[in-house]
Amino acid sequence: MIPFLDLQKINARFEDQFNQVFQEFLDSGWYILGERVDTFEKEFGAYCGTDHCVGTGNGLDALRCILEGYKQLDKLKLGDEVLVASNTFIATILAIEQAGLVPVLSETEPEHYNFDLHNLEDQISPKTKVIMPVHLYGKLAPMAGINQIAERHDLLVIEDAAQAHGAMDPQGRRAGNLGDAAAFSFYPVKNLGALGDGGAITTNDSELAEIVAQIRNYGASTKYVNEVPGFNSRLDEIQAALLSCKLKRLDADNEKRREIARRYLSEVNNEKIDLPAYDGGLNHVFHLFVVRVRDRDHFRDYLKEKEIGTLVHYPVPPHRQGAFPHLAHLSFPVSEQIHDEVVSIPINPILETDQINRIINALNNY
Ligand SMILES: *Cc1c(COP(=O)(O)O)cnc(C)c1O
Repeated sequence: MIPFLDLQKINARFEDQFNQVFQEFLDSGWYILGERVDTFEKEFGAYCGTDHCVGTGNGLDALRCILEGYKQLDKLKLGDEVLVASNTFIATILAIEQAGLVPVLSETEPEHYNFDLHNLEDQISPKTKVIMPVHLYGKLAPMAGINQIAERHDLLVIEDAAQAHGAMDPQGRRAGNLGDAAAFSFYPVKNLGALGDGGAITTNDSELAEIVAQIRNYGASTKYVNEVPGFNSRLDEIQAALLSCKLKRLDADNEKRREIARRYLSEVNNEKIDLPAYDGGLNHVFHLFVVRVRDRDHFRDYLKEKEIGTLVHYPVPPHRQGAFPHLAHLSFPVSEQIHDEVVSIPINPILETDQINRIINALNNY
Protein backbone atom coordinates (compact mmCIF):
# COMPACT_ATOMS: atom_id res chain seq x y z
CA MET A 1 0.00 0.00 0.00
CA ILE A 2 1.22 3.53 -0.82
CA PRO A 3 -0.43 5.60 1.91
CA PHE A 4 -1.50 9.13 1.02
CA LEU A 5 0.98 10.37 3.62
CA ASP A 6 3.06 8.46 6.17
CA LEU A 7 3.79 10.91 8.99
CA GLN A 8 5.64 8.31 11.03
CA LYS A 9 8.15 7.91 8.21
CA ILE A 10 8.35 11.66 7.54
CA ASN A 11 9.31 12.32 11.16
CA ALA A 12 11.47 9.23 11.67
CA ARG A 13 14.09 11.01 9.54
CA PHE A 14 14.63 13.41 12.46
CA GLU A 15 14.59 10.84 15.26
CA ASP A 16 18.12 11.41 16.59
CA GLN A 17 17.77 15.20 16.60
CA PHE A 18 14.30 14.97 18.13
CA ASN A 19 15.58 12.75 20.94
CA GLN A 20 18.34 15.21 21.67
CA VAL A 21 16.15 18.31 21.73
CA PHE A 22 13.52 16.48 23.77
CA GLN A 23 16.09 15.59 26.41
CA GLU A 24 17.26 19.22 26.55
CA PHE A 25 13.64 20.39 26.76
CA LEU A 26 12.91 17.95 29.58
CA ASP A 27 15.99 19.04 31.47
CA SER A 28 15.05 22.71 31.07
CA GLY A 29 11.74 22.41 32.93
CA TRP A 30 10.39 25.31 30.83
CA TYR A 31 7.35 24.53 28.66
CA ILE A 32 5.65 27.72 27.47
CA LEU A 33 7.10 30.81 25.72
CA GLY A 34 10.79 30.36 26.39
CA GLU A 35 14.02 30.30 24.46
CA ARG A 36 12.91 27.56 22.04
CA VAL A 37 9.96 29.59 20.81
CA ASP A 38 12.18 32.72 20.63
CA THR A 39 14.74 30.85 18.58
CA PHE A 40 12.23 29.32 16.20
CA GLU A 41 10.49 32.68 15.72
CA LYS A 42 13.82 34.24 14.73
CA GLU A 43 14.67 31.35 12.41
CA PHE A 44 11.30 31.21 10.71
CA GLY A 45 11.09 35.01 10.34
CA ALA A 46 14.56 35.00 8.77
CA TYR A 47 13.54 32.11 6.50
CA CYS A 48 10.46 33.99 5.29
CA GLY A 49 12.41 37.25 5.04
CA THR A 50 10.22 39.18 7.49
CA ASP A 51 11.33 41.37 10.40
CA HIS A 52 8.99 39.60 12.81
CA CYS A 53 7.56 36.17 13.51
CA VAL A 54 5.20 35.31 16.37
CA GLY A 55 4.33 31.70 17.20
CA THR A 56 0.74 30.69 17.89
CA GLY A 57 -1.12 27.55 18.90
CA ASN A 58 -2.34 26.81 15.36
CA GLY A 59 -2.99 28.36 11.95
CA LEU A 60 -6.60 29.34 12.60
CA ASP A 61 -5.52 31.36 15.63
CA ALA A 62 -2.66 32.95 13.67
CA LEU A 63 -5.28 34.36 11.28
CA ARG A 64 -7.54 35.40 14.16
CA CYS A 65 -4.67 37.11 16.02
CA ILE A 66 -3.79 39.16 12.93
CA LEU A 67 -7.38 40.31 12.49
CA GLU A 68 -7.78 41.09 16.21
CA GLY A 69 -4.45 42.90 16.13
CA TYR A 70 -5.56 45.18 13.29
CA LYS A 71 -8.79 45.85 15.20
CA GLN A 72 -6.73 46.93 18.22
CA LEU A 73 -4.66 49.17 15.95
CA ASP A 74 -7.91 50.71 14.57
CA LYS A 75 -7.18 49.49 11.09
CA LEU A 76 -10.23 47.19 11.15
CA LYS A 77 -13.58 47.32 12.89
CA LEU A 78 -16.54 45.00 13.37
CA GLY A 79 -18.47 44.50 10.14
CA ASP A 80 -15.60 45.30 7.78
CA GLU A 81 -15.46 43.11 4.69
CA VAL A 82 -12.69 40.66 3.80
CA LEU A 83 -12.34 39.39 0.23
CA VAL A 84 -11.53 35.69 0.25
CA ALA A 85 -11.54 32.76 -2.18
CA SER A 86 -14.69 30.62 -2.36
CA ASN A 87 -12.53 27.49 -2.50
CA THR A 88 -10.44 27.37 0.63
CA PHE A 89 -10.16 25.31 3.78
CA ILE A 90 -12.85 26.31 6.25
CA ALA A 91 -10.35 27.88 8.71
CA THR A 92 -9.85 30.92 6.46
CA ILE A 93 -13.55 31.77 6.60
CA LEU A 94 -13.93 30.86 10.29
CA ALA A 95 -11.13 33.25 11.28
CA ILE A 96 -12.82 36.15 9.47
CA GLU A 97 -16.20 35.48 11.09
CA GLN A 98 -14.75 34.85 14.54
CA ALA A 99 -13.12 38.29 14.39
CA GLY A 100 -16.54 39.84 13.71
CA LEU A 101 -15.70 40.62 10.10
CA VAL A 102 -17.66 39.68 6.98
CA PRO A 103 -16.20 37.22 4.46
CA VAL A 104 -17.00 38.21 0.87
CA LEU A 105 -16.41 35.08 -1.15
CA SER A 106 -14.93 35.38 -4.62
CA GLU A 107 -15.41 32.93 -7.49
CA THR A 108 -12.44 30.77 -8.51
CA GLU A 109 -10.44 31.14 -11.68
CA PRO A 110 -10.60 27.65 -13.28
CA GLU A 111 -6.95 27.18 -14.27
CA HIS A 112 -5.06 28.17 -11.13
CA TYR A 113 -7.86 27.62 -8.58
CA ASN A 114 -7.37 31.05 -7.12
CA PHE A 115 -8.72 34.62 -7.32
CA ASP A 116 -9.96 35.93 -10.63
CA LEU A 117 -8.52 39.44 -10.32
CA HIS A 118 -11.24 41.14 -12.41
CA ASN A 119 -13.97 39.61 -10.27
CA LEU A 120 -12.05 40.57 -7.19
CA GLU A 121 -11.82 44.26 -7.97
CA ASP A 122 -15.54 44.37 -8.89
CA GLN A 123 -16.41 43.03 -5.43
CA ILE A 124 -14.76 45.87 -3.55
CA SER A 125 -17.27 47.95 -1.58
CA PRO A 126 -16.81 50.90 0.79
CA LYS A 127 -16.71 48.33 3.61
CA THR A 128 -13.90 46.26 2.08
CA LYS A 129 -10.75 46.54 4.17
CA VAL A 130 -8.81 43.32 3.56
CA ILE A 131 -7.88 40.93 0.77
CA MET A 132 -7.03 37.52 2.20
CA PRO A 133 -5.32 35.42 -0.48
CA VAL A 134 -4.83 31.70 0.18
CA HIS A 135 -1.83 29.99 -1.41
CA LEU A 136 -3.98 26.95 -2.03
CA TYR A 137 -2.26 23.57 -2.45
CA GLY A 138 1.12 25.31 -1.97
CA LYS A 139 0.97 27.58 -5.00
CA LEU A 140 1.29 31.32 -4.53
CA ALA A 141 -1.83 33.35 -5.22
CA PRO A 142 -1.37 36.04 -7.93
CA MET A 143 0.23 38.39 -5.41
CA ALA A 144 1.52 41.10 -7.77
CA GLY A 145 -2.01 41.75 -9.05
CA ILE A 146 -3.52 41.43 -5.59
CA ASN A 147 -1.09 43.93 -4.13
CA GLN A 148 -1.79 46.40 -6.96
CA ILE A 149 -5.52 46.20 -6.28
CA ALA A 150 -4.90 46.56 -2.56
CA GLU A 151 -2.78 49.65 -3.11
CA ARG A 152 -5.37 51.25 -5.40
CA HIS A 153 -8.12 50.77 -2.80
CA ASP A 154 -6.05 51.11 0.38
CA LEU A 155 -6.70 47.56 1.58
CA LEU A 156 -4.69 45.29 3.87
CA VAL A 157 -3.34 42.07 2.38
CA ILE A 158 -3.27 39.14 4.82
CA GLU A 159 -1.88 35.91 3.42
CA ASP A 160 -3.22 32.55 4.49
CA ALA A 161 0.11 30.81 3.94
CA ALA A 162 -0.82 27.62 5.81
CA GLN A 163 -0.09 25.45 2.75
CA ALA A 164 2.86 27.32 1.28
CA HIS A 165 5.90 27.36 3.61
CA GLY A 166 8.86 28.29 1.44
CA ALA A 167 7.04 29.17 -1.81
CA MET A 168 8.91 31.98 -3.55
CA ASP A 169 7.88 34.66 -6.03
CA PRO A 170 9.99 35.59 -9.09
CA GLN A 171 11.68 38.37 -7.07
CA GLY A 172 12.84 35.82 -4.49
CA ARG A 173 10.36 36.80 -1.79
CA ARG A 174 8.76 33.99 0.13
CA ALA A 175 5.20 33.31 1.20
CA GLY A 176 4.72 35.17 4.47
CA ASN A 177 6.48 38.25 3.11
CA LEU A 178 4.12 39.10 0.26
CA GLY A 179 1.51 41.22 2.03
CA ASP A 180 0.99 43.12 5.29
CA ALA A 181 0.90 39.99 7.46
CA ALA A 182 0.67 36.24 7.01
CA ALA A 183 -0.57 33.22 8.92
CA PHE A 184 1.11 29.82 8.87
CA SER A 185 0.00 26.47 10.25
CA PHE A 186 2.36 23.74 11.45
CA TYR A 187 -0.39 21.11 11.61
CA PRO A 188 1.45 17.78 11.17
CA VAL A 189 0.62 17.24 7.48
CA LYS A 190 1.80 20.68 6.34
CA ASN A 191 5.10 21.06 4.44
CA LEU A 192 6.61 22.22 7.74
CA GLY A 193 4.66 20.18 10.28
CA ALA A 194 4.95 19.92 14.05
CA LEU A 195 4.21 16.77 16.08
CA GLY A 196 0.97 18.35 17.18
CA ASP A 197 -0.60 21.75 16.60
CA GLY A 198 1.31 24.95 15.94
CA GLY A 199 1.16 28.15 13.93
CA ALA A 200 2.90 31.47 13.31
CA ILE A 201 2.38 35.01 12.13
CA THR A 202 4.96 36.76 9.97
CA THR A 203 5.00 40.49 9.26
CA ASN A 204 7.23 43.51 8.71
CA ASP A 205 4.82 45.67 10.73
CA SER A 206 6.40 46.21 14.17
CA GLU A 207 3.20 47.52 15.74
CA LEU A 208 1.24 44.51 14.57
CA ALA A 209 3.98 42.11 15.71
CA GLU A 210 3.94 43.63 19.17
CA ILE A 211 0.19 43.44 19.56
CA VAL A 212 -0.24 39.88 18.21
CA ALA A 213 2.49 38.73 20.61
CA GLN A 214 0.24 40.04 23.39
CA ILE A 215 -3.03 38.76 21.94
CA ARG A 216 -1.79 35.17 21.72
CA ASN A 217 -0.90 35.34 25.43
CA TYR A 218 -4.03 36.73 27.17
CA GLY A 219 -3.31 40.22 25.88
CA ALA A 220 -0.39 40.56 28.27
CA SER A 221 2.93 42.26 27.56
CA THR A 222 4.21 41.61 31.09
CA LYS A 223 2.90 38.73 33.17
CA TYR A 224 -0.54 39.58 34.63
CA VAL A 225 -0.62 43.01 32.99
CA ASN A 226 -3.31 42.57 30.33
CA GLU A 227 -3.42 45.49 27.96
CA VAL A 228 -5.73 44.13 25.28
CA PRO A 229 -8.36 41.37 25.28
CA GLY A 230 -6.38 38.38 24.11
CA PHE A 231 -6.73 34.65 23.97
CA ASN A 232 -4.55 31.70 24.83
CA SER A 233 -2.85 30.43 21.70
CA ARG A 234 0.86 29.92 22.15
CA LEU A 235 3.30 27.79 20.22
CA ASP A 236 4.61 25.13 22.62
CA GLU A 237 8.32 25.08 23.49
CA ILE A 238 8.64 21.45 22.48
CA GLN A 239 6.92 22.02 19.13
CA ALA A 240 9.19 25.02 18.47
CA ALA A 241 12.26 22.89 19.18
CA LEU A 242 11.08 20.14 16.81
CA LEU A 243 10.18 22.70 14.13
CA SER A 244 13.68 24.21 14.35
CA CYS A 245 15.09 20.76 13.48
CA LYS A 246 12.69 20.35 10.57
CA LEU A 247 13.07 23.88 9.15
CA LYS A 248 16.64 23.08 8.09
CA ARG A 249 15.30 20.47 5.72
CA LEU A 250 12.30 22.39 4.37
CA ASP A 251 13.90 23.65 1.15
CA ALA A 252 15.23 20.20 0.27
CA ASP A 253 11.83 18.64 1.04
CA ASN A 254 10.04 21.22 -1.09
CA GLU A 255 12.45 20.58 -3.95
CA LYS A 256 11.73 16.84 -3.67
CA ARG A 257 8.01 17.59 -3.90
CA ARG A 258 8.62 19.70 -7.03
CA GLU A 259 10.69 16.92 -8.61
CA ILE A 260 7.86 14.46 -8.10
CA ALA A 261 5.36 16.97 -9.48
CA ARG A 262 7.52 17.46 -12.59
CA ARG A 263 7.51 13.70 -13.15
CA TYR A 264 3.73 13.44 -12.74
CA LEU A 265 3.25 16.37 -15.10
CA SER A 266 5.54 15.06 -17.81
CA GLU A 267 4.73 11.35 -17.57
CA VAL A 268 1.02 11.18 -16.79
CA ASN A 269 -0.90 11.33 -20.02
CA ASN A 270 -4.54 10.38 -19.72
CA GLU A 271 -7.37 12.45 -21.16
CA LYS A 272 -9.62 11.45 -18.25
CA ILE A 273 -7.28 13.16 -15.77
CA ASP A 274 -6.74 16.94 -15.69
CA LEU A 275 -3.35 17.85 -14.28
CA PRO A 276 -2.60 21.06 -12.35
CA ALA A 277 -1.06 24.10 -14.05
CA TYR A 278 2.60 24.61 -13.10
CA ASP A 279 5.26 26.78 -14.73
CA GLY A 280 8.19 24.86 -13.18
CA GLY A 281 9.18 27.65 -10.80
CA LEU A 282 9.69 28.03 -7.06
CA ASN A 283 6.27 29.64 -6.64
CA HIS A 284 4.77 26.21 -5.89
CA VAL A 285 5.76 23.91 -3.02
CA PHE A 286 3.20 21.19 -3.85
CA HIS A 287 1.67 20.82 -0.43
CA LEU A 288 -0.82 18.82 -2.48
CA PHE A 289 -0.85 17.46 -6.02
CA VAL A 290 -4.46 17.85 -7.05
CA VAL A 291 -5.89 16.38 -10.25
CA ARG A 292 -9.44 16.59 -11.55
CA VAL A 293 -11.58 13.72 -12.82
CA ARG A 294 -15.27 13.58 -13.78
CA ASP A 295 -16.14 10.41 -11.91
CA ARG A 296 -14.23 10.92 -8.70
CA ASP A 297 -15.56 8.01 -6.65
CA HIS A 298 -14.83 5.55 -9.42
CA PHE A 299 -11.30 6.95 -9.83
CA ARG A 300 -10.57 6.77 -6.11
CA ASP A 301 -11.88 3.19 -5.91
CA TYR A 302 -9.64 2.27 -8.83
CA LEU A 303 -6.57 3.74 -7.11
CA LYS A 304 -7.53 2.04 -3.86
CA GLU A 305 -7.57 -1.29 -5.68
CA LYS A 306 -4.08 -0.44 -6.95
CA GLU A 307 -3.16 0.21 -3.30
CA ILE A 308 -2.67 3.95 -3.73
CA GLY A 309 -4.13 6.24 -1.08
CA THR A 310 -5.91 9.44 -2.09
CA LEU A 311 -7.76 12.25 -0.31
CA VAL A 312 -10.10 15.03 -1.40
CA HIS A 313 -9.21 18.67 -0.67
CA TYR A 314 -11.99 19.60 -0.27
CA PRO A 315 -15.28 17.77 -0.89
CA VAL A 316 -17.59 20.61 0.23
CA PRO A 317 -17.07 24.33 -0.53
CA PRO A 318 -17.35 26.69 2.46
CA HIS A 319 -20.65 28.21 1.28
CA ARG A 320 -22.20 24.71 1.27
CA GLN A 321 -21.00 23.81 4.79
CA GLY A 322 -23.52 23.41 7.59
CA ALA A 323 -21.38 25.81 9.64
CA PHE A 324 -22.34 28.71 7.34
CA PRO A 325 -26.12 28.61 6.70
CA HIS A 326 -26.01 32.35 5.97
CA LEU A 327 -23.73 31.70 2.97
CA ALA A 328 -25.89 28.89 1.53
CA HIS A 329 -27.71 31.22 -0.91
CA LEU A 330 -24.44 31.97 -2.72
CA SER A 331 -23.53 30.29 -5.98
CA PHE A 332 -20.02 29.78 -7.38
CA PRO A 333 -20.31 27.33 -10.29
CA VAL A 334 -16.57 27.05 -10.95
CA SER A 335 -15.72 26.53 -7.30
CA GLU A 336 -18.55 24.00 -6.91
CA GLN A 337 -17.38 22.03 -9.93
CA ILE A 338 -13.82 21.98 -8.61
CA HIS A 339 -15.04 20.63 -5.29
CA ASP A 340 -16.89 17.84 -7.14
CA GLU A 341 -13.86 16.77 -9.18
CA VAL A 342 -10.62 17.23 -7.24
CA VAL A 343 -8.53 14.30 -5.99
CA SER A 344 -5.18 14.60 -4.21
CA ILE A 345 -2.65 11.92 -5.09
CA PRO A 346 0.39 11.18 -2.94
CA ILE A 347 3.20 13.75 -3.04
CA ASN A 348 5.69 14.04 -0.20
CA PRO A 349 9.45 14.02 0.30
CA ILE A 350 9.68 10.36 1.33
CA LEU A 351 7.98 8.83 -1.72
CA GLU A 352 10.36 6.36 -3.31
CA THR A 353 11.10 6.08 -7.00
CA ASP A 354 9.29 2.75 -7.41
CA GLN A 355 6.24 4.19 -5.64
CA ILE A 356 6.26 7.21 -7.96
CA ASN A 357 6.56 4.84 -10.95
CA ARG A 358 3.62 2.79 -9.69
CA ILE A 359 1.48 5.90 -9.25
CA ILE A 360 2.30 7.14 -12.76
CA ASN A 361 1.49 3.71 -14.26
CA ALA A 362 -1.78 3.51 -12.38
CA LEU A 363 -2.81 6.97 -13.56
CA ASN A 364 -1.89 6.18 -17.18
CA ASN A 365 -3.81 2.88 -17.10
CA TYR A 366 -7.01 4.35 -15.68
C1 LIG B 1 -4.29 24.00 7.71
C2 LIG B 1 -4.91 25.28 7.23
C3 LIG B 1 -5.36 26.28 8.12
C4 LIG B 1 -5.49 26.09 9.60
O1 LIG B 1 -4.43 25.63 10.28
P1 LIG B 1 -4.62 24.86 11.69
O2 LIG B 1 -3.25 24.81 12.22
O3 LIG B 1 -5.22 23.54 11.41
O4 LIG B 1 -5.52 25.72 12.53
C5 LIG B 1 -5.80 27.47 7.60
N1 LIG B 1 -5.85 27.68 6.27
C6 LIG B 1 -5.47 26.75 5.39
C7 LIG B 1 -5.53 27.06 3.94
C8 LIG B 1 -5.00 25.52 5.84
O5 LIG B 1 -4.64 24.57 4.95
